[in-house]
Amino acid sequence: MKLDSLPRVHLAEFPTPVHYLETLTKAYKGPAIYMKRDDLTSLGMGGNKTRKLEFLIGEALKQGADTLVTTGGIQSNHCRLTAAAARKAGFDCHLVLNGTPPKIPNGNLLLDIILGAKVHYCDRKDRDKRLFQVSDQLSEAGKNPYVIPVGGSNSIGSVGYVNAMLELNSQLDDMGVTLDAIIFATSSGGTQAGLTLGAKITGFKGDVLGISIDQTKIGSNPFPPVLTQIANATAERIGSDIRITESDCSLNCDYLGAGYAVPGELEFNAIKDLCLYEGILLGPVYTARAMGGFLDLIKKGCFTKHHTVLFWHTGGTPELFAWADQLREVFK
Ligand SMILES: *Cc1c(COP(=O)(O)O)cnc(C)c1O
Repeated sequence: MKLDSLPRVHLAEFPTPVHYLETLTKAYKGPAIYMKRDDLTSLGMGGNKTRKLEFLIGEALKQGADTLVTTGGIQSNHCRLTAAAARKAGFDCHLVLNGTPPKIPNGNLLLDIILGAKVHYCDRKDRDKRLFQVSDQLSEAGKNPYVIPVGGSNSIGSVGYVNAMLELNSQLDDMGVTLDAIIFATSSGGTQAGLTLGAKITGFKGDVLGISIDQTKIGSNPFPPVLTQIANATAERIGSDIRITESDCSLNCDYLGAGYAVPGELEFNAIKDLCLYEGILLGPVYTARAMGGFLDLIKKGCFTKHHTVLFWHTGGTPELFAWADQLREVFK
C-alpha cells in the first residue's frame, strides 16, 4: 500500500485514546461500551476532520496552493478545523457558510472568526456555486486556492480514516479487545468510506455501522453509492486491490429527527447521559444524534451484554454553545 508515501502534514497527536466507558456500560446493562476519542485530536478543539485535513493539506502543499477554500453550514466543524489547520500549515482560509449570520457569533462560527478565516455567507442552494466563485476570485487576485469539498469527503480526505482504522486495530490488539461493532455519526461519507475500507483491509470482523445524520438510503440522492464511490477511489489512491460494495456499507437512517442541525429529545438525552455518567461532552448535531441512536438500539435489544461495541466520537463539542438557549432549558 502507498498509504505511508502519500503527501501529509502533521496536524495533531495520534493515536487518539480508546476509553472503556464503565459507568455508562453499567447504567445501560447492555454491551461493553468503548469510545475512540477523536474529539481529542489536538488541534482547534478537535474532531474527525483533522485526520482528513492531514492528507488534504498535504495535497494542497504539493500543488503549491496558498489558500484553502471550503464550505459547510454556519456551525460546521469541518470549516472550523479547516480554519485551524490553515493557520498551522501556513495557509489563508476562506469559508463559504450557508445560513444567516447571528447577531453574536458563537460556537464554531465564533472560532472561525477567531482563527482568522474570511467568512462568506450564502443560501444553502447557492453553496456550491459560491464556493467556486470565491475560488475564481482568489485566482484572479493572484492567489493559488485549493478547494476542499464539503466535509473533506473525497478520496484524499478519506485516506485519513483508512489510517484511523489501522490505528484502532493495533490499539485493540494491545488491549486484547474484540469488537462486535463500531458505531459513529455519518454525513458526508468520508469517515464511513475510510473506516469501511480500512475494516476490509485489516480483516475486521464486526459491523462498521454509520448512524446517518441527514442521509437516506433511497430517494433522489441515495447515500450507499456515495460511500462506495469514495471508498473505491480511496482504495485506488492507496494502491489497494480491495473494493467495497454497497453490501459492505452498514447504514442506519432511523434517527434523522426533524432534520439536519435540529436536535430534539433523542439528542438532548444522549448529551445528558454522557455528561452525567461519564463527564464526556457530545455535540448536538452529529455525535449526540449518533449516540442517541446507539443507546436506542441498546434499549431495543440489538446490542446485549454479550456484545462489545466501540462508539467513535467524531467531535463537534463546540456546537454546544450554539444551542445554549435550548440546553439551558434541558439542564435546568
Ligand atoms: C463531519 C462530522 C461527522 C460526519 O463525518 P463525515 O465524514 O462527514 O460523514 C461526524 N461527526 C462530526 C462531529 C462531524 O463534524
